[in-house]
Amino acid sequence: MSENRDPHVTKFVYDFTEGNKDLKDLLGGKGANLAEMTNLGLPVPPGFTITTEACRTYLDSGEEPAALRDEVSAHLDALETTMGKKLGQADDPLLVSVRSGAKFSMPGMMDTVLNIGLSDKSVQGLARQAGDERFAWDSYRRLIQMFGKTVLGVDGELFEDALEAAKAAKKVTVDTELEAADLEKLVTKFKKIVRTEAGRDFPQDPREQMDLAVKAVFDSWNGDRAKLYRRQERIPHDLGTAVNVCSMVFGNLGPDSGTGVAFTRDPASGQQGVYGDYLQNAQGEDVVAGIRNTVPLAELESIDKKSYDQLMQIMETLENHYKDLCDIEFTIERGQLWMLQTRVGKRTAGAAFRIATQLVDQGLIDEAEALTRVNGAQLAQLMFPRFDDEYARGGEGVEQVGRGIAASPGAAVGKAVFDSYTAVKWSRSGEKVILIRRETNPDDLDGMIAAEGILTSRGGKTSHAAVVARGMGKTCVCGAEELEVDTKRRRMTVPGGHVVEEGDVVSIDGSSGKVYLGEVPVVPSPVVEYFEGRMHPGADDADELVEAVHRMMAFADRKRRLRVRANADNAEDALRARRFGAQGIGLCRTEHMFLGDRRELVERLILADTEVEREESLKALLPLQKRDFVELFEAMDGLPVTIRLLDPPLHEFLPDITELSVRVALAESRQEPHENELRLLQAVHRLHEQNPMLGLRGVRLGLVIPGLFTMQVRAIAEAAAERRAAKCDPRAEIMIPLVGTVQELEIVREEADRVIAEVERTTGTRLKLAIGTMIELPRAALTAGQIAEAAEFFSFGTNDLTQTVWGFSRDDVEASFFTAYLEKGIFGVSPFETIDKDGVGSLVAAAAKAGRATRPDLKLGVCGEHGGDPESVHFFHEAGLDYVSCSPFRIPVARLEAGRAAVTSLGSDHR
Ligand code: PEP
Ligand code: MG
Repeated sequence: MSENRDPHVTKFVYDFTEGNKDLKDLLGGKGANLAEMTNLGLPVPPGFTITTEACRTYLDSGEEPAALRDEVSAHLDALETTMGKKLGQADDPLLVSVRSGAKFSMPGMMDTVLNIGLSDKSVQGLARQAGDERFAWDSYRRLIQMFGKTVLGVDGELFEDALEAAKAAKKVTVDTELEAADLEKLVTKFKKIVRTEAGRDFPQDPREQMDLAVKAVFDSWNGDRAKLYRRQERIPHDLGTAVNVCSMVFGNLGPDSGTGVAFTRDPASGQQGVYGDYLQNAQGEDVVAGIRNTVPLAELESIDKKSYDQLMQIMETLENHYKDLCDIEFTIERGQLWMLQTRVGKRTAGAAFRIATQLVDQGLIDEAEALTRVNGAQLAQLMFPRFDDEYARGGEGVEQVGRGIAASPGAAVGKAVFDSYTAVKWSRSGEKVILIRRETNPDDLDGMIAAEGILTSRGGKTSHAAVVARGMGKTCVCGAEELEVDTKRRRMTVPGGHVVEEGDVVSIDGSSGKVYLGEVPVVPSPVVEYFEGRMHPGADDADELVEAVHRMMAFADRKRRLRVRANADNAEDALRARRFGAQGIGLCRTEHMFLGDRRELVERLILADTEVEREESLKALLPLQKRDFVELFEAMDGLPVTIRLLDPPLHEFLPDITELSVRVALAESRQEPHENELRLLQAVHRLHEQNPMLGLRGVRLGLVIPGLFTMQVRAIAEAAAERRAAKCDPRAEIMIPLVGTVQELEIVREEADRVIAEVERTTGTRLKLAIGTMIELPRAALTAGQIAEAAEFFSFGTNDLTQTVWGFSRDDVEASFFTAYLEKGIFGVSPFETIDKDGVGSLVAAAAKAGRATRPDLKLGVCGEHGGDPESVHFFHEAGLDYVSCSPFRIPVARLEAGRAAVTSLGSDHR
């Protein structure tokens, strides 16, 4: 609902009867919901809200708006009339609370002052009215303490120390044991602290107390803690906070009073029922302070049946009204129930899915609304096996020894191994292993496949280990710098000096980055069993959660416009991706097909001195590549398969320069020079680059190594022809990486077209192969209109595009200065994880538009890591792309988020 207000009159104060829940921008979350409850006829202590607009004016100009004082006076008058007493009235004071309340909840970040209106005089009146002197003096000392600290800036510890001293003098341990006289003395002491520290007396005028408290709440918007919190949570700095002035009710007036919290459903399971806690004879802050143990809410029924029944009825009203789980704070003052707060409550990931479908079944919400009640991060959380929390916190024989970057979620336990060879050998004999390296490289692939999880002491979220592990859905912790990994001696030293030897059991948590010594028990995910087709919704053993996930996925699939493809390089991944709902392959990285026993052929290609030698090695590679593609087309029959021609710098296929130099030097010293190794070393030197990511890679390889790309294109075309001959439906798309200008693409394209035409001629098959390019360099994005002339599709390579737009090395920065950037709030999340909308994102959107201007039917996708990131998926939806492509395990998340993107707009309130 829009916030329609008369533009000529700025109204800065709203009575609770005047607002509603849709005015959160203006009244903040708390104020809007208090108003909503008031209008529902629920028992809310009367009060009013000063708007965020008043706060913004104050923060901008340093002065409160001129009209504010009179408006507050008018609302205070009305409140006093309603309550039948005046603020701070000596014989029967009206007391109020002054609470902050921004649009988005910022727990504990801003200020609150309770019991405003108490003074040396009115404390006596309160004591008489309440018939409880202790209560009155306790309320007064709380006011001076809170006011002193938050409004007058007195160090809170001074009050705490004085309170401790009073308890010590009386030889008691809890403040409830202090009597009226003790508290009266404490009030004198507190006032003295205020005078000394603030250089002024604690104000006795209740209106002055209120005005100063309001100003302090405004100021707290710009406190250091609040600013940092906003940067991290990406809450805009210019929203300001509203201030709620609410008549006080007391839960600490005896056994017929109390305070509690309640949920309309179990926030852990989603189950409907009576959930919450109650504390008799106490105020809200006593619950937080844990002075006494609360009792389960159900016990309120026997303590105060009338209030309990009323509360149950209110909870039902709230759920039906908000159409969601609500959490509630309430107080009972001498048998009278008061609602102090409500809001749509937080819940666990599992509960979110269950509640959303329950509400659909109850007819309270529709499918589209249900999709806004869950998110991809929650689904991801449900998909990974977890460590048993209780145990990880300190099970027998388990010790946390380090923490790295949570690179690929999940929980893995196994024996420590320090090289791929051992990982493969041990896993073949049935051992579960964790591969521990300083960092990984393509040579480690076998070991990574064999391992349960991967742990590295270097590298960030886009390091080789992280990207490959995520691709495999394998747990990975990387950049755990406090661990000293010594691969030569096959050991790792943890802080404190303990040495982990090969074979010792370690556990790693890819969701938190924690590393443990010993075995932490793992809880498997029923949701993955479901996606894998091993558990069926509706089956006897399927739980409610699986049922709920199944239904939510169906909702998402019905609503989404974006298609979802997989980044997959082999048939096994492709088949899994299909089970998980992939609608094709968006990126097959062919370099992964050049490893293992093919490496030798690639080496021969790189070392070839003559055309004949080169052609021979290409000829040997051709049938192998063709077989790879046939398998992929088979797995993805009827769906598009985008195959990227070779991309990485060639040195990645050659031995490490240092190791090779040592080998050659040793052989020479033994006077047994090895001809091939010498040639290899020369090639390694020749191909060595200072900045390989900006060097000879991508389309540049195709342009300088004759025959390489044409061999790959031929393999694709022949594989497609073979599948056609078998009456199947291969849908290959050939993708050229790292193009910076249309000329590069035109040259490669011309050759590719020639090869395809030749295969079509010789096989007598019409192949209809699409040729397109990756957009992963700023120049490509800036000249997208030209590039589209030679491309039938664009796939945005947002990993490289982020790297080149920011000038951040994707292999280095996350482990070096990103932590500092995150701490300083320069970004809330790495731009390699979530698309940087303003920079990289705007380039993507502009390139998409320019490309389509040239070629209206240009197909647009994204295949960088961002393709599986929830927030980024929303961005790509808005930018009008056709599909996102991500690793198989992230496909369900991308499907769900694509559905959510279709039913919510960017920047919605669903935080
Ligand atoms: C990219 O750069 O976004 C991409 C998908 O390619 P790669 O990660 O293989 O460089
Ligand atoms: Mg790339």
